Amino acid sequence: MKCDDLARRLTDLRDGALAESDCAAIEKHLAECADCGDLHRDFEDLARLCRESPRPRMPLAVRRRIEQALAD
Ligand SMILES: [Zn+2]
Repeated sequence: MKCDDLARRLTDLRDGALAESDCAAIEKHLAECADCGDLHRDFEDLARLCRESPRPRMPLAVRRRIEQALAD
């Protein structure tokens, strides 16, 4: 998974349409990718939402930070 792929998966996650296998791929990317490090904490929150809920709801503050990151 590349950073662009991660961004797309995060969009899916925001829409509540992320597959369980994608959650695992996201976690793997975050463990390995330094480029995503500054958002790592937020992504960890998302990964937890992945595991805890079939239809995760992203906290608004996290959503805004990710949208800012994707807009760069
Ligand atoms: Zn990355």
